[in-house]
Amino acid sequence: MSSLLEEERAEVIRIAQKMITDGLVVGTSGNVSLRSGELVAVTPSGVDYDELTVAGVPVVRLDGTVVDGELAPTSELPMHLTAYADHAADAVVHTHSLHATALSLLRDDVPAVHYQLAEMGGVVRVAEYATFGTDRLAENMSAALEGRGACVLRNHGTVAVGSTLARAYNRARQLEWLCELWLTAQRAGQPRLLDDVELTRCAQQFQHATRS
Ligand code: 13P
Ligand code: ZN
Repeated sequence: MSSLLEEERAEVIRIAQKMITDGLVVGTSGNVSLRSGELVAVTPSGVDYDELTVAGVPVVRLDGTVVDGELAPTSELPMHLTAYADHAADAVVHTHSLHATALSLLRDDVPAVHYQLAEMGGVVRVAEYATFGTDRLAENMSAALEGRGACVLRNHGTVAVGSTLARAYNRARQLEWLCELWLTAQRAGQPRLLDDVELTRCAQQFQHATRS
């Protein structure tokens, strides 16, 4: 029997497993989704990513109705669907990466420690805390994501979006690295930061690089 979004579901599994091997989540934490038209393939809730099969991966409509897959969708479905509705994303990655989460306990944004931040559209914000799986968390995430490719969730983790799952995933990894860089530098002294003018110049360089 044919099933919906087979390729997208396989890509969701691949990236979910990469989150584990790259250390962006532990256990069954985090979640991943990929949109195709009006449908979204998304990781199931509380399932070991190494045991995931294509048939197990849920497929939902943009209103959250499940249309395929043996398992129930992630508890963070509101966050994923809100990212698609509000931010024209095609892929969403949610991690609990250590350094980004640590930074969220200390700051309201990710300091401009490196030009890589410009690829996210500017200084990455930390969303206000709300309970996991709630519409409130999705609202807070959406506000922090405005005009950006990623945000940090206070006392929780990160969300990155992109036009492909590979791009969203790269942002999630870069964001974790940026947070680790800041935490490492500020343990040794007062980090020097890039100013807004330079960050804007770097954002233009990124646009130029992706056009060429
Ligand atoms: P799920 O297992 O329901 O995807 O939850 C993981 C998570 O990261 C909740 O914030
Ligand atoms: Zn989470």
